[in-house]
Amino acid sequence: MAEIYKNLIYGEWTESETGKTFENINPADTDEVVGIFQDSDEDDAKKAIQSAKDAFGLWKEKSPGERGDILLKAADILESRVDEVAESMTREMGKTKPEAKGEVSRSVYIWRWFAGEGRRLIGETSPSDQNNTFIYTVKEPLGVVGIITPWNFPAAIVAWKLGPALVSGNTVVFKPATLAPLSSLKLVECLVEAGIPPGVINYVTGSGNVVGSEIINNPEVKAISFTGSCEVGRKIYEEASKRIVKVQAEMGGKNPIIVLEDADLQKAVSCTIASAMLTTGQKCTACSRVIVLDEIAEKFTEMLIGEVKGYKVGNGLNPDVKIGPLVDENQLNNVLNYIEKGKNEGAKIIYGGSKLEGGIYEKGFFVEPTIFIDVKSDMVIAQEEIFGPVLAVIKVKDFDEAIKIANDVEFGLSASIFTNDLNKTFEYAGKIECGIVKVNGSTAGIEFHVPFGGYKSSSSGIREQGRVAVDFYTQIKTVYIHY
Ligand code: NAD
Repeated sequence: MAEIYKNLIYGEWTESETGKTFENINPADTDEVVGIFQDSDEDDAKKAIQSAKDAFGLWKEKSPGERGDILLKAADILESRVDEVAESMTREMGKTKPEAKGEVSRSVYIWRWFAGEGRRLIGETSPSDQNNTFIYTVKEPLGVVGIITPWNFPAAIVAWKLGPALVSGNTVVFKPATLAPLSSLKLVECLVEAGIPPGVINYVTGSGNVVGSEIINNPEVKAISFTGSCEVGRKIYEEASKRIVKVQAEMGGKNPIIVLEDADLQKAVSCTIASAMLTTGQKCTACSRVIVLDEIAEKFTEMLIGEVKGYKVGNGLNPDVKIGPLVDENQLNNVLNYIEKGKNEGAKIIYGGSKLEGGIYEKGFFVEPTIFIDVKSDMVIAQEEIFGPVLAVIKVKDFDEAIKIANDVEFGLSASIFTNDLNKTFEYAGKIECGIVKVNGSTAGIEFHVPFGGYKSSSSGIREQGRVAVDFYTQIKTVYIHY
C-alpha cells in the first residue's frame, strides 16, 4: 500500500475535510502508485489561507536575515536529500534520474541565493524639493501569497517561487500540480524541519478548478504566482485582475533554434536534440522548431538523425535512458494527435512518430522521439506548444527569413542561434522577440541569479529569478520625514 500524504495547515499535517484522496501514478509503470494525496476542496483551501493570514504578523516581524537563515537551513536539509527527492520525481513524473538530480541540486542553490536576498531588500533615499525633508523607500511584504505550480519542474519552480516569497516576509498557500505533488511536498518538509513557524507555509493538494480557484478568488490572497499552460494562465489572470491583485503568470513556449551556414554544426545538432528531447520535450524552454538555412539543411538533418539515435527511451531510473515517458495518458494522446496533424498537413516524418508498445513500454506512456521535415511556419506543429519530444525542421533561404519565422508565433520564451558571425549575433539579439536569448547554446538551461521569463503570450508580470524576483513579492512604501 502506497504512503498517504497530507496537507500542511497551521504547521500540522492534516487530512482533507472531504475524506477523499487521489493516487499519484508512475508514468513509466502504471502499476506503481507513488503516493496517495488529499483531494482537498474549497474549505481546505480557505483554512490554509486563514492559517497563512494568522502567521503573517509574526513572520513579517522577523528580520529578513532570520528568514533567510531558515531558507539556508532548508537548503542544507534538501542537499542531504537530493537523491531521495530526485528518485521521487522520476517515479512521479518520469524525467530521468540524472535530470531530476540536477533539478533538485539546483533547487538547493536557488534557496541559498534567495536566502541572501533577504538582507538585500534595499530601498532608495531621495533629495526632496522641500526644506528639512528626508525621503526614503522600503520594500514591504504583501501578506498571503498564492503559489500554483506545474508538474514538469516540481522542485525548481517551487524553490524559485517559495524562496523570494518567504524571504521577503510573505506567508504562502501553495498548491502543487496533481500529477507531481510528492517532490514538492519534500521541499516543504525541508522548510518545516528547518524551523519555519507554523502557518508560514501551507501546502494543499487538489484540483486546479477547486483548490486553485479558491486561491485565485479569496480576498485574503494578495498575489498569485502561477506557472503552467497559457489556457489556465489566461483564466487566472482574468479572474484575479477583478480583485486588482498582482499576478505573475509563466506559461508556454514554441522555442526556435536558428542554424546559420557558418555554425559549428556538431554543436548545433547536439544542442538541438538535447533541447528538444530531454525531459521528453516537456520543458517550457524546450526547442520545438529548428530553423536551418537551405544550403546546410540536408547535412544538418542527417546529423540530427544520427544524434537522436543515441537517445534511448525507457524508465528514467535506468541509467542508459535519456527519454522517459510522457507524464500521463492525456499528454501521450495530445502528442500523438499533434504527430497526426503534422502528417495530415503535409510535413514528413524522418524519425520516430509512433507510440512505443510491448515489453518495457507496455505499462507506460512512451512515444518515439520524432523529427519532421518539410514543415511550414503556418502549420499547427510549428505554431502550437506540443510539450513532447517532437522537433520540426523548417528550411529558410537567409538570415532575415530565419528571424521572421522565429518570431512568427504567439510565444516568446526562449530562442537560440548557432553562428560565429558577430554582426548577425547582435542583429538577432536585438530583433528576436524572446525573454531568454541564447547564442551557440541550448534553448533550455537557465541560471537562477538572472531574470527568467518570456515575451508575448509566454509570460505576464514581473520576471522570476534573479534580483528582480523579490519585486513581485513586495510593495514599495515611500516615506517623507519633515524634520
Ligand atoms: P496547467 O496549466 O494544466 O496546470 C498548472 C497548475 O495550475 C496546476 O497546479 C493545476 O492544478 C493548476 N490549475 C489548473 N486549472 C486551474 C484553475 N482553473 N485555477 C487555478 N489553478 C488551476 O499546466 P501543466 O500541464 O501542469 O504544465 C505544463 C505547462 O506549463 C506548459 O504549457 C508549459 O510550457 C508550462 N510551463 C511554463 C514554465 C515557464 O516558466 N514559462 C515552466 C514550466 C512549465
